Amino acid sequence: LNKGLESLRDLPCITLDDQRLTLWVNTGLMADVARSLDRGAEGVGLYRTEVPFLMRERFPSEEEQRQIYREQLEAFAPRPVTMRTLDVGGDKALPYFPIEEANPFLGWRGIRVTLDHPEILLAQVRAMLKANEGLGNLRIMLPMISNIPELEEALELIYRCQRELEEEGLEMPLPPIGVMVEVPSAIYQARALARRVDFLSVGSNDLTQYLLAVDRNNARVSDLYHAFHPALLDALIQVADGAHAEGKQVSICGELAGNPMAAVLLLAMGYNMLSMNVTSLPRVKHAIRSITASEAKILLGEVRQMESGQAVEERLSTFFHERD
Ligand code: PEP
Ligand code: MG
Repeated sequence: LNKGLESLRDLPCITLDDQRLTLWVNTGLMADVARSLDRGAEGVGLYRTEVPFLMRERFPSEEEQRQIYREQLEAFAPRPVTMRTLDVGGDKALPYFPIEEANPFLGWRGIRVTLDHPEILLAQVRAMLKANEGLGNLRIMLPMISNIPELEEALELIYRCQRELEEEGLEMPLPPIGVMVEVPSAIYQARALARRVDFLSVGSNDLTQYLLAVDRNNARVSDLYHAFHPALLDALIQVADGAHAEGKQVSICGELAGNPMAAVLLLAMGYNMLSMNVTSLPRVKHAIRSITASEAKILLGEVRQMESGQAVEERLSTFFHERD
């Protein structure tokens, strides 16, 4: 099987009836790069900038960040690299920036932290824009957006970075900017969000946790954390439709993207890119290459009639077993 999957590297990710789907990887460390390219990743859908922050004893300076980001961008160029602004809080704490709260997942995390500390966001974005000089493969993504004013405030800060750099003699075009859809309110405002940016990307890990009110790290309730819950499938469809209604691309960068059965449904929903852990990439590509887009659509129509995540999963398992 492994040999078969390896030979997949240079084959395109297309269905039997020639529908293309772009497969990206999630990264954080430079160590992810070689493996990602080796498995045929077409870009990075989520570079978690908090990873290099977690490995230090203090906030990295703008220049240190520029070098770190430059390395990622160069390694993947000309493929796109989607850099997410700092997403700390929740389950991710920086040792030198402690956050003590009763409900960290409902508290100060992601964009909330960096809007309260604009100097963090400004240094990050300036470093990203500088790192992008001469390459042009940067995309910027904002985590945990839960309303339009937050997005507008973050966009203003990004524009400000561009203006500042221009005054310093560095003229840079703005890279594509996107919003993560990972708070339930963003599902219902997908269109309004999409209108203001270049792309949406679903963070299915947090979206599942918040939609189902299940802590993603709590073993006691992990059987309630159901990736195929019908409410989640509906949400995914609504987000894809909202983005497309505004002529924008939509991707997904949570664990769900790396599940081959889910990938087939996401294809049918119209997702343009799936971004996953590199180890999942060959299996997902194999699943997409083994199916037609019309079969995927029929399957999606069928599972949409089902009323529990278990029923959906059973149907998907049967479908894939019958084909193996
Ligand atoms: C997500 O929430 O699905 C996501 C991709 O971000 P993280 O796992 O880093 O919270
Ligand atoms: Mg998240």
